[in-house]
Amino acid sequence: MANKEIPYKIYLEESELPRQWYNVRAHMKNKPAPLLNPATYKPMTAEELEPVFCRELVQQELNDTDPWIDIPEEIVNFYKMYRPSPLVRAYCLEKKLGTPAKIYYKFEGNNTSGSHKLNSAIAQAYYAKKQGLKGVTTETGAGQWGTALSMACAYFDLDCKVYMVKVSYEQKPFRREVMRTYGATVTPSPSDTTEVGRKILAEHPGTTGSLGCAISEAVEAATSQEGYRYVLGSVLNQVLLHQTVIGLETKTAMDKYGIKPDIIIGCAGGGSNLGGLISPFMGEKLQGKADYQFIAVEPASCPSFTRGKFAYDFCDTGMICPLAKMYTLGSGFIPSANHAGGLRYHGMSSILSQLYHDGLMEARAVEQTSVFQAAEQFARVEGILPAPESSHAIRVAIDEALKCKETGEEKTILFGLTGTGYFDMVAYEKYNNGEMSDYIPTDKDLEAGFAGLPKVPENL
Ligand SMILES: *Cc1c(COP(=O)(O)O)cnc(C)c1O
Repeated sequence: MANKEIPYKIYLEESELPRQWYNVRAHMKNKPAPLLNPATYKPMTAEELEPVFCRELVQQELNDTDPWIDIPEEIVNFYKMYRPSPLVRAYCLEKKLGTPAKIYYKFEGNNTSGSHKLNSAIAQAYYAKKQGLKGVTTETGAGQWGTALSMACAYFDLDCKVYMVKVSYEQKPFRREVMRTYGATVTPSPSDTTEVGRKILAEHPGTTGSLGCAISEAVEAATSQEGYRYVLGSVLNQVLLHQTVIGLETKTAMDKYGIKPDIIIGCAGGGSNLGGLISPFMGEKLQGKADYQFIAVEPASCPSFTRGKFAYDFCDTGMICPLAKMYTLGSGFIPSANHAGGLRYHGMSSILSQLYHDGLMEARAVEQTSVFQAAEQFARVEGILPAPESSHAIRVAIDEALKCKETGEEKTILFGLTGTGYFDMVAYEKYNNGEMSDYIPTDKDLEAGFAGLPKVPENL
């Protein structure tokens, strides 16, 4: 098999779609720390989580032991509309760079929402429907998650209320209209429709909002209305679990052609696509079956892994969600206003945080002008217009390929291309006009965020 000519695009058959998600926690020696009740500092129980999240999703959230979890038939059928997604050999990029490295990317932008987020949206909408709920609430920043969720809710005939970070609501009117076309209600956050929104507006008049603040509003909207639950597009264990379809398909496709990646790269916002891509490979590493180098890429302006603290923190600005132990910049941290490239969440998946803490994964922070440079270079040879978020991974993939050019090593590099950037043209415009700048927070900037970390007693 190893000698087989490798096509530009490796497509799997529909019959090769994963039928189970892979739960990497089952093979982690050090399990991710449990969510804590912010009032008692005790681990959240299923009973405490169920008023907020769907029942079945709570089970997935708390499941540290089962390595495989069946994907319900209805979800597999929805996946068939846009999956399996292609694994692409970036022959054109390799040639352009003049590198001996072999570069592959798994492309998740081939659906209307334009990103991998649909993989979890459909699962979360399915479980909400199955539980007999009326609808779900959520937050969205750049809009990809809200779009994916509104598509999924339309499919299952569920009501969908999206709190959209105000700056995006204003800058991305088309994103908003896509969501409304799929039937969602979109409210700019902070809003006066929730208590927490009114409080934030009173304390910070004129604020353009943040993800953490929109989360607080969405949670309040879910818990204060009969028949609603809150759903989240990243960070949580359940989301990372659903995203393992990315890694499982990639592994199947690579195994078919006898390809073994040396380096696996992904952008990291809340960690769901990266976690989903690397899970099956990380599982092999954890079990001593194979070794890989994993690299998480984050913006230098929101450096949770590379400069954050590994600590319990609030997941939202309103401090109403459970506490999660993660690499965090503090729930009050808001990236500087010139930051255009997404991945602006203050924290990181607990699973990835633990893996990083245990030295099983590396992280790099990159500046946004260099990210857009990589995006432009990639678009011109590979054709796809990448999302700014995805372009963080492109940046480091190119950097690694250029290192191979110097050393002559023929490494195999795999990265996750999470989505397309058609709704990010304001950012591209800035870059094209030479008006994009970089801002790296000072230690003093970060101290302010760390000062807001909850004082959780040691040795609970
Ligand atoms: C949301 C998003 C990300 C970041 O989220 P993760 O949970 O870290 O995967 C990356 N790329 C795209 C295109 C996104 O929409």
